[in-house]
Amino acid sequence: MSEAPIKTILTGDRPTGPLHLGHYVGSLKNRVQLQHQYRTFILVADMQALTDNADNPVKVRQNVTEVALDYLAVGLDPKVATFCIQSMLPELAELAMYYLNLVTVARLQRNPTVKEEFRRLQRAPADADEAQIRELEAQVPAGFLCYPVSQAADITAFKANLVPVGEDQRPMIEQTVEIVRSFNRTYGEVLVEPESLIPQIARLPGTDGQAKMGKSLGNAIYLSDPADVVAKKVKGMFTDPKHLRVEDPGTVEGNPVFTYLDAFDPDTEKVQGLKDHYRRGGLGDSVVKRRLAEVLEAFLGPIRKRREDYAKDPAEVMRLLKDGTDRARQVTASTLAQVRKAMHLDYWP
Ligand code: ATP
Ligand code: MG
Repeated sequence: MSEAPIKTILTGDRPTGPLHLGHYVGSLKNRVQLQHQYRTFILVADMQALTDNADNPVKVRQNVTEVALDYLAVGLDPKVATFCIQSMLPELAELAMYYLNLVTVARLQRNPTVKEEFRRLQRAPADADEAQIRELEAQVPAGFLCYPVSQAADITAFKANLVPVGEDQRPMIEQTVEIVRSFNRTYGEVLVEPESLIPQIARLPGTDGQAKMGKSLGNAIYLSDPADVVAKKVKGMFTDPKHLRVEDPGTVEGNPVFTYLDAFDPDTEKVQGLKDHYRRGGLGDSVVKRRLAEVLEAFLGPIRKRREDYAKDPAEVMRLLKDGTDRARQVTASTLAQVRKAMHLDYWP
């Protein structure tokens, strides 16, 4: 009996800031758990970060190291998972260029996540009408509109089967699957269709109650935040705005303090008890927040410690990234050679 071939994971993050609790819940946790079962590649997507940070290359460069430190801190093991830098794998840019011909402008404009991010980028007023929004959208860099295609290049270059991501990335994987089908139909079976792996808590809300905690949204608790900063952020968290007095019954659904407890408190019975009490009334926000601060400190303490240890040797972190990128390049080069052959672009050996 032959064994099933080992499957591949590709996922990554934009170096636009250090990683936060949302990244952990949405993707890092699954990566850490699966790194021993799958051939795992983790991409620091610096080219994608530049699509909305073109004027800030120093920020992107600095955050490459920050993101790599976060990987090490949460327990991604560079001996089993390959860390690599997107812009140092030029095959990815070339693949993206070919894939752009397989996608219509209308399809790119329809991508719901890109649409949502457009609004944030252009600070569209909440009451903007369709025409105003379309006008604002036309001012966004073309690279930003096309980043789902570049992401399809990343995923397919590694022939990834599984992509552990948060909910906001679901449309990207769908678009990748469409590109794969179109490519294989047009040029022959070369690319592999990926699947997304989206956790149960698929989108961690921000401390301000916004639907998504995001690096660029100013509502994040970072994995590297010092204990006093975490405590302060938890204290200031949005809760149920109708829960004014301690004796009032409160709402648990959509209350980010409880969503964080669901994600990070290992004592699920205790969480259930707090929820019941909150719903009945008589439980103050400050008590629930105190519990959350404790739980987060128990989770973040060891991560912070590991991060500090690795941060002492930034040259070693860069070496890990270089080694990983060298290994990754063998894979991306092999896929690109197959793609070029299928597209009749193999002019000479
Ligand atoms: P930016 O605001 O610059 O886009 P981000 O915080 O959205 O940053 P990304 O690097 O774009 O982070 O996303 C990396 C991964 O983390 C993706 O898989 C994304 O789905 C996941 N992720 C990010 N924020 C959250 C969140 N709040 N909840 C769950 N998953 C998240
Ligand atoms: Mg994002």
